[in-house]
Amino acid sequence: MKKTRRKDIATLIKPQVRRLAAYHIDETPCRIKLDAMENPFSLPTVVQRELAKAVNSASINRYPDPSAKKLTQAIAGFWGMKPANLILGNGSDELIQAILLAFGGPTLIPVPTFAMYEITSRALSQTVVTVPLDKNFDLDADLLLKKAKESKAKVIFLACPNNPTGNRFSDKAVRRILDRADAAVVLDEAYFSFSGKSYLSLLQNYPNMIVLRTLSKIGLAGLRIGVLAASPEIVAELNKIRLPYNINSLSQAAAVAVLKHRAIIERQISLLISERENLYNALAQMKGVTAYPSETNFILFRTAVDATTVYGKLKKAGILIKNLNKPGPLKNCLRVTIGTKEENKEFLKTVRNILDTD
Ligand code: PMP
Repeated sequence: MKKTRRKDIATLIKPQVRRLAAYHIDETPCRIKLDAMENPFSLPTVVQRELAKAVNSASINRYPDPSAKKLTQAIAGFWGMKPANLILGNGSDELIQAILLAFGGPTLIPVPTFAMYEITSRALSQTVVTVPLDKNFDLDADLLLKKAKESKAKVIFLACPNNPTGNRFSDKAVRRILDRADAAVVLDEAYFSFSGKSYLSLLQNYPNMIVLRTLSKIGLAGLRIGVLAASPEIVAELNKIRLPYNINSLSQAAAVAVLKHRAIIERQISLLISERENLYNALAQMKGVTAYPSETNFILFRTAVDATTVYGKLKKAGILIKNLNKPGPLKNCLRVTIGTKEENKEFLKTVRNILDTD
């Protein structure tokens, strides 16, 4: 058969996608994994057995429950939400994509913030407008509102608390944006469990408000379950573009089994919060380190020496954290997820050694 000359296939891909850098995940095997805001604890054997039983009885020859009814009920009960206001996603990443598919752009985001708001917007060929956070990583509500108006932004993402900075934006600024913006305002409460503060109760007051949560940070990252709460109108529209069967049967069954054990989950969260305070105090006192207060399960810190070198030395010692070092507000910044007591101790000892010998 005669071979026809074909154009380089990559040139057919949208320029917006070709220009993107993939969300970077360092897959280096490590002894101590403190890079991805996972919960470091495993489940007690009894709960693991219940989970195995639930997974065993799932009919995997059938498609999953398309509206994940039992899991939606379980999550609604766990967090005091109304099932009619909820949509579940394959991680909240999928829900961010659904919001952007439904509303379109421009997307407005404070920076620095969670990378997927920008990556997904660009993948969908939408304009991204950025507003710098102030020196305390707080929002300038007036500047944000001005830019929202000028750009005719359709969606504003506010991670509350924010990743990677770890702080909550001032309540006054968030409410001002909710009050005045002519856009969907997404309050991403991925780290809600570690701050205890939520905007959920304001949902009835603001028809343009969307709340996101996730089960990833409280021990179920492997199941990929995100939660979106919004008005029934928004939920109805988003359901039109949600992929059918987006939550697989095993994840549905496993999450329902685990969520029955509220006390265990809450105990793990409070342990992590007290470990976070210990780790913050130790980092804050360390010479050559500036630590930023956190209401999440991670801590952002800045090193006086080159952070990429510190990151590399930690990795060599078998400890993986996240390197955020690049010119701008995150210059020489690193992010460490709260681990177990022993992991945090070893992390601190290793950082101390690295900084002492540098
Ligand atoms: N939102 C924020 C603010 C995050 O930090 C993350 C995870 N890094 C996510 C959403 C995505 O979480 P998941 O897709 O695991 O639910």
